[in-house]
Amino acid sequence: MHKGVGVSPGVVVGVAFRVESALGQAEPRYLERPEDAGAEIAAFDRAVEEAAGELEGLIRRVAQELGPSAAEIFQTHLQILNDPGLLSRVHSVIEEQQLTALSALQQVMQGYVSQFARIEQEYFRERLNDLRDVISRIGSHLTGSREPARGEGTESRDGDQPVVLVAHEILPSQAMSLGEMPIAGIVTEVGGTTSHAAILARSRGIPAVSGVEGIMNVVASGDPVVVDGREGHVIVRPNAEETSFYRKIQREFFHLKDSLIANRDEPARSLDGTRVELLANINNLADVHSASTVGATGVGLFRTEYLFLTHHNVPSEEEQFEYYKQIVLNSPNQTATIRTLDLGGDKTVPYLGKRYEPNPFMGWRSIRIFLENPKLMVTQIRAILRAGKYGKVSMLFPMISTLEELKRVNKIVQETRDNLKREGVPYADDVKTGVMVEVPAAAICIDAILRETNFISIGSNDLIQYLVASDRDNPKVAHLCEPLSPAIFRVLQMILDACNRTGTPVTLCGEMAGQPRSALVLFGMGLRRFSMSPAFIPTVKNLLGAVTTAQAERFAHHVLQLSTSDEIRAYLSARLREVSSTLEVLDAV
Ligand code: PEP
Ligand code: MG
Repeated sequence: MHKGVGVSPGVVVGVAFRVESALGQAEPRYLERPEDAGAEIAAFDRAVEEAAGELEGLIRRVAQELGPSAAEIFQTHLQILNDPGLLSRVHSVIEEQQLTALSALQQVMQGYVSQFARIEQEYFRERLNDLRDVISRIGSHLTGSREPARGEGTESRDGDQPVVLVAHEILPSQAMSLGEMPIAGIVTEVGGTTSHAAILARSRGIPAVSGVEGIMNVVASGDPVVVDGREGHVIVRPNAEETSFYRKIQREFFHLKDSLIANRDEPARSLDGTRVELLANINNLADVHSASTVGATGVGLFRTEYLFLTHHNVPSEEEQFEYYKQIVLNSPNQTATIRTLDLGGDKTVPYLGKRYEPNPFMGWRSIRIFLENPKLMVTQIRAILRAGKYGKVSMLFPMISTLEELKRVNKIVQETRDNLKREGVPYADDVKTGVMVEVPAAAICIDAILRETNFISIGSNDLIQYLVASDRDNPKVAHLCEPLSPAIFRVLQMILDACNRTGTPVTLCGEMAGQPRSALVLFGMGLRRFSMSPAFIPTVKNLLGAVTTAQAERFAHHVLQLSTSDEIRAYLSARLREVSSTLEVLDAV
């Protein structure tokens, strides 16, 4: 059994499919005879051609599904691939050093790595990532281990077994290209709950485990494998007993997911009729459709940085406006909360001139970048206010730490509205503005924050990592980023009480909103607006429908008396079992 971090719940028993990285092979391999160089070069050229064809297909598909701007990153990859410099370098390494094409490719990549290692600027680091991505793609064509194409891959030599991707890491372009493939589980060696693999897995509702060190050394393509995304466990070549145990859970899980969706058109309410709003967290236009499919009543969090991550320059006001307009028009009830740019931390773009920082999560990120770039900020605020004409739109500011920051933001929003009005540009004057409470300082001073905002959205992912001083993406300290903990619940209760006392609408949009045990407590503490990955909405809807308000209040009251995470987990697991023994299967016990 291999232990990692469960990043998307559920269980699957399937067969492994290794996603090779061209950088993965350590020892260089030499040609057996000098005359093999010609054939090796031909094989390399073929792999480049196939990779180019794959990228062209990807550009078409992404442009169609997410808009032309989202495909820009792949255009760049195609340019890199067509760079004669890269190709001739590999050709000469094959000829002169008598290396196989794959080893030559690796060596060329290593050359780039050492060249770039001396440069600190984020821009060059990002370029290196693009190069790495392209070289991996060529490498996977060379080894014949490219990603399964749509419609293939579910068939394996073991019959009709589901495919589990196993990779060192999933690169951004891979996450995109895997978007619609028939994958039933994901396991990676690196990455945490917010990695590309995790986001992909959650948006598709498939089990995933990240941070499984060394898994690539022990698994071969075709190996039977169990992925338990609730517990963060992976079993390679399980025995018969393990296989049948996990198959049973998997069957229950699938069955449950189907039955849970049956009430998607009914409003979400507790057993005694208390109404709750279940909203969706989305990252792009494709996610909006998942939100409607599961019965979300609106978009509670649109992370706009994903639009910026796929561009090679700041998207223009028109581009942003068109994209946000489409998001709003396609959102359930045309209701969407659009969050302004939350870059930094693990999400960087080269064009903002971000430099290397020893502690990026504590550094120049989010609203801090935004406030230093007035043009960037005004462009996005204008686009959001204009998109507000097409539905019920709210604008949300991430990572606010102080009242001074909030006052500055509010002033800029007001000036932007005034300018739009003066220019006669159509915009919505009723767009509400809100603050993400995800920095402990803002939580502690919530009373002051509430005087300057229309609504609150609690970003528990960040709030937890900052409260316990533990990087949320670092598997070494993942155990500390535990939502079921006394400190978190006390802070949350404080925020919820302050909001409810003043009648300020409050949503919680971190991952814990979609986790059954924490959702029970949050409801008991008075939370009525939950925003989560669309895949979790059916579970939470059915769970809250099985509990009365008074019951949940009792649970919350009890949890607040407990002093360790273990006690809280044990207590809530028992309550979850009582409330809904079937839903328990969707969460770790
Ligand atoms: C959060 O911090 O809880 C949140 C929802 O935002 P993100 O995960 O994008 O930081
Ligand atoms: Mg956050």
